[in-house]
Amino acid sequence: MKWPFARAKAQPPPPRSMADFLAEATLEIDQQIAQDPLWHQHLPYRSMPPDQARAFEIEKRAIWRRVIHDAGRGEIAALVWTTREDDLVCPACRERQGRRYAKADLGRLAKAPVHLGCRCELAPVR
Ligand SMILES: [Zn+2]
Repeated sequence: MKWPFARAKAQPPPPRSMADFLAEATLEIDQQIAQDPLWHQHLPYRSMPPDQARAFEIEKRAIWRRVIHDAGRGEIAALVWTTREDDLVCPACRERQGRRYAKADLGRLAKAPVHLGCRCELAPVR
């Protein structure tokens, strides 16, 4: 028997420009900077003055958000939270090392907190 209420296939999110991701990342990073007056001292890298570090953090965050967004549009099976596995990894990220986010979990991943100075990446699984 044919199931009469076959669920419509979920539409992938529409494509977005890098400018959109950068604009949102700028707001997100500036909010986090405002919450931590010593943010620059808390970074795991020390080689950049604050204005350059801010720009770097914005770029990283925009790319992080873009990877999650594009994963929802592409043919990948999951994203895996991947730390650098060194002494500078923060406890929150260490706990997420190797965690696999299937397509259905991308919304949860998008809400996961990402801190300033995070060096993690989201590795695609096909
Ligand atoms: Zn991290």
